Amino acid sequence: MIEVIPCITLEHDLRLVLLAAFICIAGSITFNQLTRRSRFTTGFARAGWIGIGAIALCTTVWCTHFIAMLSFQAHVPVVIDPVLTMASLIAPVFGFFAAISLVIYGRTLLASIIGNTLLGLCMSGLHYLGMMAYRVDGIVSWDLGYVAASIACACAFTIASGLVLRRSSFEKLNLPAIGLYALGVISLHFTGMTGMEITSFAISDTPMDEATFVALSMATALAGLLVIAIGGITFFLDADQRKTGYEKLLQMAMTDTLTGLANRNAYMDDLNTRIQKAERNSATLAVIGIDMDRFKDINDSHGHKAGDAALIALANAFQAQCHSGEIVARLGGDEFAATKEYSTEEELEDFLSRLQSALNTRLQVNETTLHLSGSIGVARYPEDGKDSDTLRNNADLAMYRAKIHASNTICFYTASMDEEARQKRELAASLAQALENNELELYYQLQASVKSSKISGLEALLRWTHPKLGPISPSVFIPIAEESGLIIRLGEWVLRRACEDAAGWESEDKVAVNMSALQLTQVELPRIVHQTLLETGLPPHRLEIELTETAILEDRDRSLHVLRQIKALGVKVALDDFGTGYSSLEILRSFPFDKIKLDRFFMSEIEVSRESRALVRSVLSLGKSLSIPVLAEGVESAAQLSILKEEGCDEIQGFLLGRPEKLSDLIEIRSMQHGIETLFTSDAEQRNLGTVRIVSGG
Ligand code: C2E
Ligand code: MG
Ligand code: MG
Repeated sequence: MIEVIPCITLEHDLRLVLLAAFICIAGSITFNQLTRRSRFTTGFARAGWIGIGAIALCTTVWCTHFIAMLSFQAHVPVVIDPVLTMASLIAPVFGFFAAISLVIYGRTLLASIIGNTLLGLCMSGLHYLGMMAYRVDGIVSWDLGYVAASIACACAFTIASGLVLRRSSFEKLNLPAIGLYALGVISLHFTGMTGMEITSFAISDTPMDEATFVALSMATALAGLLVIAIGGITFFLDADQRKTGYEKLLQMAMTDTLTGLANRNAYMDDLNTRIQKAERNSATLAVIGIDMDRFKDINDSHGHKAGDAALIALANAFQAQCHSGEIVARLGGDEFAATKEYSTEEELEDFLSRLQSALNTRLQVNETTLHLSGSIGVARYPEDGKDSDTLRNNADLAMYRAKIHASNTICFYTASMDEEARQKRELAASLAQALENNELELYYQLQASVKSSKISGLEALLRWTHPKLGPISPSVFIPIAEESGLIIRLGEWVLRRACEDAAGWESEDKVAVNMSALQLTQVELPRIVHQTLLETGLPPHRLEIELTETAILEDRDRSLHVLRQIKALGVKVALDDFGTGYSSLEILRSFPFDKIKLDRFFMSEIEVSRESRALVRSVLSLGKSLSIPVLAEGVESAAQLSILKEEGCDEIQGFLLGRPEKLSDLIEIRSMQHGIETLFTSDAEQRNLGTVRIVSGG
């Protein structure tokens, strides 16, 4: 009886033993990779990876066994049965496939133990089938203790390997698990061989000599290595393809497709990383919000292609201005963001001025040169916020503040902005509540014709008295309602109430209702107006919609389309606050307005400034040439009225005629007509505006 170690060292060709061990380890690595891969796939691909793993394992075990067997120095002539040898190579593949499937699909500890036991048994089957093909010129007897021990070793090591893999969650190449598999194969073979005893007598005339054994071993090793290598290459090709695909997906998920800049996800990830780093190093960071000015105008006036070109030009300009370690991203629309680590104020100022010069890009669209500009808001880490969301939010607050001022402004966040934003949110909530509770009121202000001295209409002006803060000006709450979207419901309420009120007046005066930008972008607005008129019974010609040019420019094409439909109902459309915007003339050209309302800003200057008077004169002559009557807003004094009369103004509105009043506080309109006439004819000094109370009791 020979023992395991002396059996290996004395009874085997050590060169071939080492070759067998090498094959065994290489094959175990490939097997480990392939089965790991099968864990992270599903369906047919999983079965495929298990199949390749089973073939790699079978080849490994078979080659190890065959080379180790050939390395055995039996000292008797040997022949190898070809059929049994082939069977020992092919049959176990199916067993291995079943065993690996059990482990992979089963997932439980029990499945792992049973599957790996089966794996050990298949290895043993392969070994002993192979040994049956090994015919020696003598009597072979087996020590059943060693045979049992060899099978037990194979099973124990494969089970142990499976358990090690489970603990590592199969995440990466697991060397201990690979070592245990290899030990399973090697211990099976050599323990088995230790239990084999040969009593010699010649059965063959042509036993294989040593050189043939070595050559056969080399050929087997080579074939085995090829199969193992194919398994390995398949794995690495797949891994590479997955990596490339993953990187591509990651790139797509992190990049803004239009400009190639980092997108919101990438920007926020980067910002979080920078904040963590800044926290560790006690560093300072600037989080910057950037918004293009008049981007909507570019889109509306020059088309979306020009809008895209502007965004790309801006992105390129930003990239050209960025140094290493600085990031500019596009968060969406015309909204950009940047981050900069800085240690001195000069560094930050330098970065901001580079961003500003990038913002001042020029862009050629057809024959027009567009001068791009934008607003910048800055929040600093750690003083203005410690996390990415707060910093981004505060940078945006500062940016909105910058937008209010003028183009190309940089604003730094201050704590008062936060307070303002909070107050706005609270006001928006109270306003919604007020609308719900019917706490809003409509006041009316008179409009009169200069020529006929007759009342021509009343403008409905919304009033809100806050339960705690008292009366709040529409110039404060209307923009808040616009920002929160509440203006849609608010506007519908005003329209209905104004139409209901006007329908009840004895006179045929028009009622003017203000509408804001958001309402104008509603495609259903014409239907709402029509329905309100039908339900309140107000004839369409008695309703006048007032719009400012900025409201129309928000979404020019859509607004004009909606306006045309409203006008087609017979409703009048007035251009409010004329002269305060930039494109008043352009707006007048694009729509047949029924009235121009000259902004009250002109009245404040008309008595003292020649220029203002000249401006008023030119607006009046413009109105005449377009056959659109002009109403002067904010007429407060008789002197202003007499100038307007001289210049040929059509209508007036202002404190001179009366302040906006509750309908119930206004007296019978016809009885006050006389008061109006006096106002237009008597001397300015004799007038007492406080007593001028006009209009209907509806
Ligand atoms: P607006 O449409 O230009 O309305 C005229 C504003 O000028 C009113 O201010 C009115 O009280 C004021 N006013 C009238 N005569 C004189 C005067 O002689 N001198 C001076 N200094 N001011 C005069 P109010 O009521 O505070 O409304 C401000 C703005 O709020 C309105 O300007 C309008 O744009 C908006 N608004 C008011 N009600 C509504 C509404 O129901 N819906 C919408 N969308 N906006 C409204
Ligand atoms: Mg108005
Ligand atoms: Mg106005």
